[in-house]
Amino acid sequence: MTAIKENILAAKVRSDFPILQQEVNGKPLIYLDSAATSQKPQAVLDTLRHYYNHDNANVHRGAHTLSVRATEAYEAARDKVAKFVNAQYREEIIFTRNATEAINLVAYSWALTNLKPGDEIISTVMEHHSNFVPWQIMAAKTGAVIKYVGLTENEEFDLEQYKTLLSERTKLVAVVHVSNTLGCINPVETIISLAHEVGAKVLIDGCQSVPHKSIDVQKIDCDWLVASGHKMCAPTGIGFLYGKRSLLEEMPPFMGGGEMISEVFFEGFTTGELPHKFEAGTPAIAEAIALGAAVDYLSAVGMDNIRAYEEELTAYLFKKLATIPNLKIYGPKPTAEGKGRAALASFNVEGIHASDLSTLLDHEGIAIRSGHHCTQPLHRLFNASGSARASLYFYNTREEIDVFIKVLKETIDFFNSVME
Ligand SMILES: *Cc1c(COP(=O)(O)O)cnc(C)c1O
Repeated sequence: MTAIKENILAAKVRSDFPILQQEVNGKPLIYLDSAATSQKPQAVLDTLRHYYNHDNANVHRGAHTLSVRATEAYEAARDKVAKFVNAQYREEIIFTRNATEAINLVAYSWALTNLKPGDEIISTVMEHHSNFVPWQIMAAKTGAVIKYVGLTENEEFDLEQYKTLLSERTKLVAVVHVSNTLGCINPVETIISLAHEVGAKVLIDGCQSVPHKSIDVQKIDCDWLVASGHKMCAPTGIGFLYGKRSLLEEMPPFMGGGEMISEVFFEGFTTGELPHKFEAGTPAIAEAIALGAAVDYLSAVGMDNIRAYEEELTAYLFKKLATIPNLKIYGPKPTAEGKGRAALASFNVEGIHASDLSTLLDHEGIAIRSGHHCTQPLHRLFNASGSARASLYFYNTREEIDVFIKVLKETIDFFNSVME
């Protein structure tokens, strides 16, 4: 039953993605790198073109028709994102260039003014570099200390260890929702409520969760959530920060310039209202509007449909990968129904370099990633310089997984025969 449903969904959405209708190296493209960036549906591409063909003008400061149109579309995109993550207030959504900029906004605005020597930041060993480095910079500037939650035997977030790290010294918990390497889904509701019990604030890195399942920021009660548009069918150059309004109101501006001010004098300035206080300079107008279109598109497909579909694909992918000898997959195993992890697999095959695998797969039109996936500390824990990663989205099919597995097996056989 589910298999039939799944094929209907795949068939329905696939034609929306023009880039997928091509051959690469003489073979139909099989794109298995959506955790790095997703492809964009026609509706998003049309939105970009329409904006530049009809409405392009600078936002917020003009009284002319095009400026009003651009402003309305830009602010409508904010409403769409707010609704998508169920923010209580529209001004809780701040447009940024990407998730990295959103994390840096919180670091330079909140952490720099609130952390002092001896304060503790809790993070995890599985963070993306974007959720490591800003806190390391803040620790160096403020004298705060970073503590890292490690992994359980199943290579998941160690909740018991986390509990032992929490104390009244903990001021901030910065944790990824879904790991882009392990694929584990962290228990953010529990993590957040335990942090709040000791008075700490929590930032959730939603880069790999927001594109794949419905997120309710009020329900999980995070203080901040960040995501990148380009991993959720929108263009590059746009992402967002969600923050609780009371917190954002207390936070000083991150960058200074136009848009973020109320009044400017020779002696100084007064800051503007939320959300503009954090959006200095001309924003990525077209990209934000296109992010709104991406959110419309994802909502029309249905986030629950996407999650259910990706669970099916996960179960199938892991069943197939299990047939390959000497292949180590990082992170937890999915259930037979594909639950309990994200639709991606980072792996290493004994004796074969991940980059050699991805190069040979590319010859067959199959795009997988190899490297450290911006999680070097995690790879060091595994004594691996890198790994190969196949990551899925709702436009991928079982047939693509079949071809991927077949070519992967042939490639491994080839390397093994050469090495003999
Ligand atoms: C991609 C990613 C980031 C960084 O996103 P940018 O778009 O490069 O800012 C951060 N965290 C996770 C988990 C990611 O997957």
